[in-house]
Amino acid sequence: MTDDTKIQLPDDRIPRAWYNIQADLPQPLAPVLHPGTGQPVGPGDMEPLFPGALVAQEMTTEREVEIPKPVRDVYRLWRPTPLYRARRLETALQTPARIYYKYEGVSPTGSHKPNTAVAQAFYNREAGIRRLTTETGAGQWGCSLAFAGTVFGLDVDVYMVKVSYRQKPYRRAMMEAYGARCVASPSEETQAGRTVLAQDPETTGSLGIAISEAVEVAAARDDVKYALGSVLNHVLLHQTVIGLEAMEQMALAGDSPDVLIGCTGGGSNFAGLVLPFLGQDLRRGQRTRILAVEPTACPTLTRGRFAYDFGDTGHYTPLMKMHTLGSTFVPSGIHAGGLRYHGMAPIVSHLADLGLLEAHAFHQLECFEAGVLFARTEGIVPAPEANHAVRAAIAEAERCREEGTQRVILFNLCGHGHFDMQAYTDYFAGSLHDFEHDDASLRTALDELPEVAAG
Ligand SMILES: *Cc1c(COP(=O)(O)O)cnc(C)c1O
Repeated sequence: MTDDTKIQLPDDRIPRAWYNIQADLPQPLAPVLHPGTGQPVGPGDMEPLFPGALVAQEMTTEREVEIPKPVRDVYRLWRPTPLYRARRLETALQTPARIYYKYEGVSPTGSHKPNTAVAQAFYNREAGIRRLTTETGAGQWGCSLAFAGTVFGLDVDVYMVKVSYRQKPYRRAMMEAYGARCVASPSEETQAGRTVLAQDPETTGSLGIAISEAVEVAAARDDVKYALGSVLNHVLLHQTVIGLEAMEQMALAGDSPDVLIGCTGGGSNFAGLVLPFLGQDLRRGQRTRILAVEPTACPTLTRGRFAYDFGDTGHYTPLMKMHTLGSTFVPSGIHAGGLRYHGMAPIVSHLADLGLLEAHAFHQLECFEAGVLFARTEGIVPAPEANHAVRAAIAEAERCREEGTQRVILFNLCGHGHFDMQAYTDYFAGSLHDFEHDDASLRTALDELPEVAAG
């Protein structure tokens, strides 16, 4: 085992192919259904929204998908990302566990999201597309697609959930610095936005509404397409560069993980870290513990239902079988904005259903407490979302201390918190509160799941 703290790969060791878990699943994913017919969608149904190459990646069962050279060339700006051994955190916890983290905060926008934004922008440009539309909640995805758009010469329109648009002016400024247009959602620009505003002019918006707006605009024009920052198979595929690099770095460290941990909003950074390890386990008949960590305020995996549901509030999207709180679920205003989506990636949901991962939920105060300890020991201030993974890693390390066992923990530190300092300010001021739904409030949105869910 190395005594290095920072385990860095040479610059030329960026993976040459993404890893596709669909090649190794013990049972295939449930088909995506057309909301009108209830029949499985074909490539033609998705091509109004996504270029053919991404539709093909959504469905392929090939184990490896080659990363195009222009995409690798952009990845080189920040990849390979470092893997750290959290020695000071281990000391502070007095744990015999060895804790490692993969740090995705070194990207231009400060999170893992450019890993897919760059790939999506590339394939759209190859297909002759001029403009991309998307939604953003906390602003991370909007910034990442704006960055990717400027790299490949595409216009980008971002529908930003109104509450974040107001709370996070610096995220909007960053999108504009990259040349994107950022619109508060719901907006007057779309039918979906106007409908919601007519019912509730004061609404602060939601991710589901912003998706409806972005999809509506893209569906109406041939030279405009839509980009999604999480949930879909091709997004998770692109994120596997995280885990592929981490496997090599763990080997360099002379160690191998017993527990893998990631926070889950739509599931992409979590999947990016764990899927390459899980694929290897499935092929070799081994088993590494895998923990998906979510907020108690948006408990998609721990309390949602595994059922067919829409991806958006306006019901423009196809039906996906996933863990969901219902497309009309409106999460409370917790600060981990990236973890406030009603659904979970179909791949992650399927793995949970097969019993291949454990899901845990934590309250936001204990997550901030963990994030502050991490900042004071490791020096990086994590994004509020990432604090959930930090919390779970610390809980595991504390268990190792109590049991006197020496497990190896690897978690994904998916982003830094430099744009989220208001959240830390609120935490230090004591104005953050924990939030947990009672069964009745969860049932309201679940009762509105589409009919096919019963089948
Ligand atoms: C967007 C985001 C998330 C949540 O999305 P996933 O698809 O679940 O990864 C988590 N952390 C950060 C830093 C994000 O920007």
